[in-house]
Amino acid sequence: MAELVSPAGALPSIPDDLTLAQFILDSQHPSRPVRKHGIPWIIEDHSGKTLGFEELYARTFGLANGFNIKFNIKEDDVVLIFSPNHVDYLVAVWAAHRLGAIMSGANPAFTPDELTYQIQATKASIILTHPDSLSVALSAAQSAKVPGDRIVLFDVEGASYGKQTNVQALIDIGLASGPTFKERKLRPGEGKTKVAFLNFSSGTTGRPKAVAIPHYAPIANVIQLAAHHRVNDPSWEDQRFRPGDICCAVLPLYHIYGLVFNTHYSFFCGMPIVLTTTKFNFLDFLKSIARHRITHLMIVPPQVVLLCKHPAVKEYDLTHVRYLTSGAAPLSRELMERLVEIFPNAHIGQSYGTTESCTVITTWALDKKCDLSGSAGQLIPGITARVERPDGTLADFDEPGELIAKTPSLALGYAGNPEATRETFVNGWLRTGDEVKMNRKGEIFVLDRLQEMLKVRGFQVAPAELEGCILDHPDVADTCVVGVQDDYSGELPLAFVVLRPEAATRVQSDPTGTEKIKQSIMKHVADNKVAFKKLAGGVEFIDVVPKNPSGKLLRRVLRDKAREMRSRP
Ligand code: AMP
Repeated sequence: MAELVSPAGALPSIPDDLTLAQFILDSQHPSRPVRKHGIPWIIEDHSGKTLGFEELYARTFGLANGFNIKFNIKEDDVVLIFSPNHVDYLVAVWAAHRLGAIMSGANPAFTPDELTYQIQATKASIILTHPDSLSVALSAAQSAKVPGDRIVLFDVEGASYGKQTNVQALIDIGLASGPTFKERKLRPGEGKTKVAFLNFSSGTTGRPKAVAIPHYAPIANVIQLAAHHRVNDPSWEDQRFRPGDICCAVLPLYHIYGLVFNTHYSFFCGMPIVLTTTKFNFLDFLKSIARHRITHLMIVPPQVVLLCKHPAVKEYDLTHVRYLTSGAAPLSRELMERLVEIFPNAHIGQSYGTTESCTVITTWALDKKCDLSGSAGQLIPGITARVERPDGTLADFDEPGELIAKTPSLALGYAGNPEATRETFVNGWLRTGDEVKMNRKGEIFVLDRLQEMLKVRGFQVAPAELEGCILDHPDVADTCVVGVQDDYSGELPLAFVVLRPEAATRVQSDPTGTEKIKQSIMKHVADNKVAFKKLAGGVEFIDVVPKNPSGKLLRRVLRDKAREMRSRP
């Protein structure tokens, strides 16, 4: 029967009385390698500017003190960061933690409505943003009734801050005064309940929800990953992660993959990150790998596609790359095989995780240099997983079913949404909504997604959110959004739409009407939603959206219909 405790090794103790900031900045866990002297923590990609431990430590104190002096940020206040990656992004996270506050990261490409939703859902009381995102932040803050003077700007060379406060000014104020706040310390066990992050995920159904992640969860996941990789174990020679290795950081810090695995785990292992603070550009990425002699790549499938297919790749010497993992969405075996040709010296494989499990559930077994089997990896230490058939009974090994996992890194649930929490977090287990097969070695093969959520270039798209938007269009009576396969993006949203009778008549009397209405619906979504949510899979008209007797959308029927339509020549 497919229920398995991770065979990958034992888990060392996990501190439950530390905040994430204290764990990463102030403590020395036994499985953490001693940091080599003089190695920076953050290298800003485009400027080459470096930040070492002492500087980050001091900036974190300065900002926490400045937050307290200027804004009276206190216990459980939510600091929302609406910005691309920035060298002070993590400083702001740790400063919030020093005060007992919570951080919530938002996608910097959000429209004002999308940001308003997140501000309201988290009850954020202060917003940190980038000068380029200021106008959206101001508009959303106004709608959500957050005063404009509680918007603080990250510092960008050449930018003017107008009336807004900037992070450097807060740090300066904080550093110029003695401590005005008392560092938030946790009682033994409190790390398991004290919320550190509110990250957004749609979960298995519905609109995006705030996942409440306690401090213990990312700390546990970092220790689980270190145990899997036998970091700091002198008897293991072929170390995947070594102090002084250098990891790229192109993943967004508002997403759990960027926040935990890519950055905090790299810091734990003594590895600097090369932080990309501008919009992802593939040629710049290649140059950056070569310029900084990056050894570790943590990326998502569309970036793998570019590495495998872009002609410029062969102009670069990439032999120094020692590690590459792809996560957040499925990756084909063919692409993995191509990666091995491009990076002959690298350990290559997939990692699988979710926001709700506060990141990694599987990564490939340590005794395999590369895993080209198509597996999303092996359960990491501390995880117990089961695979369930639709009737709730345990599937056999190698039989498809839903992956249900137990991990010390589990989130607490969806803030303010007990019903969705009950559906997904069941007696300490996480229902992933992913259809998988698991073998006796604890290796997972992701087959399909049972949940509604789509993954477009690794980003979550909640069909319910797009359906709400499409229903606002005056010609639409009903709709259902599903994903269609795409080589580059993984999936693209396609909307099945039932037209209102007047619109249906218009379409019949005007031969160009169909195309006009489709374009107008697509424009409506493009105008109101961030770019990756646009209906790039198209719009199809249907007579009725199939529903079960209780009115629940039969999404699977339309997913199959979309597949069938796309497979027709
Ligand atoms: P998120 O919460 O945004 O990290 O999304 C979690 C979802 O991403 C999972 O439930 C999977 O559907 C998908 N996912 C993550 N990693 C992988 C992977 N390696 N292969 C296939 N799907 C993945």
